[in-house]
Amino acid sequence: MKIHDFVFATKISEACELLRKTGESAYLIAGGTSTFFVKSRAPRNVIDINRLPLKGIAKKDGVFKIGACTTVNELMKYKAAGWVLNRVALRFVNQQVRNISTIGGNVAKVFYWCDFPVALRVLEGTLTLTGSATHRVKISEVFHNITAQKAAFKNAILEYIEIPQLTKGMGFGYAKETRTSEGFSSVTAAAFVQVEHGLIADVRIALGAVLPFPLRMFDLEASLKGKKADRSAVEGMNFQKLDKYNLTPREGMTPEYCRHLVEVKIADVVSAALAEATGGSL
Ligand SMILES: Cc1cc2nc3c(=O)[nH]c(=O)nc-3n(C[C@H](O)[C@H](O)[C@H](O)COP(=O)(O)OP(=O)(O)OC[C@H]3O[C@@H](n4cnc5c(N)ncnc54)[C@H](O)[C@@H]3O)c2cc1C
Repeated sequence: MKIHDFVFATKISEACELLRKTGESAYLIAGGTSTFFVKSRAPRNVIDINRLPLKGIAKKDGVFKIGACTTVNELMKYKAAGWVLNRVALRFVNQQVRNISTIGGNVAKVFYWCDFPVALRVLEGTLTLTGSATHRVKISEVFHNITAQKAAFKNAILEYIEIPQLTKGMGFGYAKETRTSEGFSSVTAAAFVQVEHGLIADVRIALGAVLPFPLRMFDLEASLKGKKADRSAVEGMNFQKLDKYNLTPREGMTPEYCRHLVEVKIADVVSAALAEATGGSL
């Protein structure tokens, strides 16, 4: 990426005004790691938002409020009951990039390998975005599809992400497959379950990397709801429901292997989430 000008914004209102005034050539920077992947040679005017008060994680009333400029390393180090994003951060490329990349940058520009959009799709919660006004939107609405995501982030600054704390009876699973330890993901999957009276009361499954944008697997979720929360639910999953997706094999995988790997990873994350929710092992 070719940089023409570089300014630090010190207030959110100032950053928004700069974004609006600079127009198409504006490029917001938090960690700045995405510039490595931006191939356009058009000169960009960079607005650095690292001096904005958007760092850190706070827990209040069962909700984690995460500043958009919080680094992946901070997400990994943070400890609290019901906090699960450390598990996602741990799988994030390497320590060097974890030290710099921010959660805001990871969800604002979604590359197929991005970890946090997949995890957030199952955890749900809200995003607080400021453009001409500040508004709080559900993650499910913003990440419904790529068009909705791009529209939400156009000329807007993500201030916070809020996700609920996991409590008793809830579980989360996260998995991704890479060919080498720091490689891009070949398949990323996440699951959230809520178990009540031994049954799966709620379940959310998201799939990434083999799709251009992470998707919720609503059909699979529906087939699990109400089932007994044990190994039989995972073994009985009807993977034919994946037939409608045009999966992209990565890293030289054959389509057959890609499909097989997707099924394995989905079963893994659902098993892990069920095990956590039931306090056992599946
Ligand atoms: C070699 C390498 C390997 C990587 N591998 C992985 C991987 O395996 N998994 C993974 O998830 N990521 C990986 N990444 C990181 C990922 O590709 C992105 O580069 C990174 O998540 C962007 O975060 P950032 O803070 O650096 O954002 P930036 O590069 O600063 O910004 C990214 C985009 O988001 C916008 N933006 C940033 N912050 C905000 C905000 N608060 N509000 C609105 N818009 C904002 C910017 O305008 C820009 O368009 C890798 C990066 C590198 C360099």
